[in-house]
Amino acid sequence: MDLSKHISSAHKTFSVWKKLPFRERQKFLLKLAEVLEKNKGRYAATITSEMHKPITQSIAEIEKSAGMIKFYATAENVLKPEKIKTEFTVSEVHYDAMGIILGVMPWNFPFWQVLRFAIPAILAGNVVLLKHASICFGSGDEIENAFAEAGFPESVFQNLRIGHDEIREILENPLVRGVSLTGSEKAGGTVAALAGKNIKKSVLELGGSDAFIILEDSAFEKAAKEGPWAKLQNTGQICNAAKRFIVHEKVEKDFVPKFIEEYTSYQPADPMKKDTKLSKMARPDLADDLEKQYKKALKNGAEIILPLERISENEFRPGIILVKEGNPVLQEELFGPLAILMVGKDDEDILKLANDIPFGLGNSVWTRDKKRAQYFIENLESGTVSINKATSSDTRLPFGGAKSSGYGVELSLHALKEFTQIKTVVGN
Ligand code: NAP
Repeated sequence: MDLSKHISSAHKTFSVWKKLPFRERQKFLLKLAEVLEKNKGRYAATITSEMHKPITQSIAEIEKSAGMIKFYATAENVLKPEKIKTEFTVSEVHYDAMGIILGVMPWNFPFWQVLRFAIPAILAGNVVLLKHASICFGSGDEIENAFAEAGFPESVFQNLRIGHDEIREILENPLVRGVSLTGSEKAGGTVAALAGKNIKKSVLELGGSDAFIILEDSAFEKAAKEGPWAKLQNTGQICNAAKRFIVHEKVEKDFVPKFIEEYTSYQPADPMKKDTKLSKMARPDLADDLEKQYKKALKNGAEIILPLERISENEFRPGIILVKEGNPVLQEELFGPLAILMVGKDDEDILKLANDIPFGLGNSVWTRDKKRAQYFIENLESGTVSINKATSSDTRLPFGGAKSSGYGVELSLHALKEFTQIKTVVGN
């Protein structure tokens, strides 16, 4: 592929796009949201055929994406110059668009992840190149076509069907000013190192192993009902899924049977059927990895609560393991239908278990006691803390990770500033 052709086309468009007023750029977004709503059935079918997500969840992904686009289409312009009081006649902070931004995106939400990064970057006046996950090139094409159908100038958004190697060439090009990667730690470290070497801004949205904490004074029945969905949605392949259920020992006996009952209602079925809640994993090699992690956890003392049963090359009956502190599997992300159960003796112990991992995306705490909730809010090491609800991203609120889960912010008005150059204007 002639990358320089795509980059120079993007640069040409950037010189025009960045000059459009914020409100004018927003009008294109409204049209894009309409295109998504109109074509949602087709887009959802593409997602499901590429990575096997149950079809109702693919439709929900498109609807959530359209809602997010509408949020930005009607958002306050937080990028207008800010006036600061000083002794000078003019003291202002400007937020200039940076230029071409590369997105390196994963397969687990083939539309949402791409648009979540691209929309605020484009509204801020940038243009975007996408390197999608190799199993989702069809989704990438559909997104590019959606921009065209919404009437965006050509090359505001381009989908490049490329592999890892071309990322280097793109980031070495001086016209490309930043990169946002959503994916694994390994991919994030590699791409961020390339960005750093070329002095380019990077945003990383990486893996997680979030805790779902059930204290003894909580509405634990509700938690037992919502917990399995928080883990098994998208067949357990979500960065901020509840991956470790940490239960207070005083409620273990009441919570666990209810949790298992709901959990076993998730069984793999045809992803194109409307009532399917669980499906195949996206690729057989990912199923191999999960099975290896399961065996490693057991070898290191984990106990089986529900066995993880492989029923085809990329399909499992979902499993649950009871894991104790020190098991090396706790240092990894389990990306699939295998949950970890842990038991803590008091709040301090539970907090320690929750934080003792490399990641920090979005923990969830269930308690009726505001003081105890506050203790966890202040001490959990994560980008989000959810109280009495499962963690899920919300367009109106910032989303990002702590520790090895990455850096930088997506969603909310904060994301509009991620790929802007702050320019100070001062004088008389
Ligand atoms: P992945 O293997 O890291 O792939 C993500 C993207 O990076 C793909 O486009 C992939 O391209 C590319 N890539 C992979 N290895 C690379 C390398 N060495 N150099 C350059 N590019 C590379 O991740 P995934 O399996 O698609 O997604 C699952 C991971 O994403 C999980 O860890 C999950 O937690 C994380 N995730 C995080 C968030 C968040 O917001 N924090 C959201 C969703 C997912 P190819 O497909 O061509 O390999």
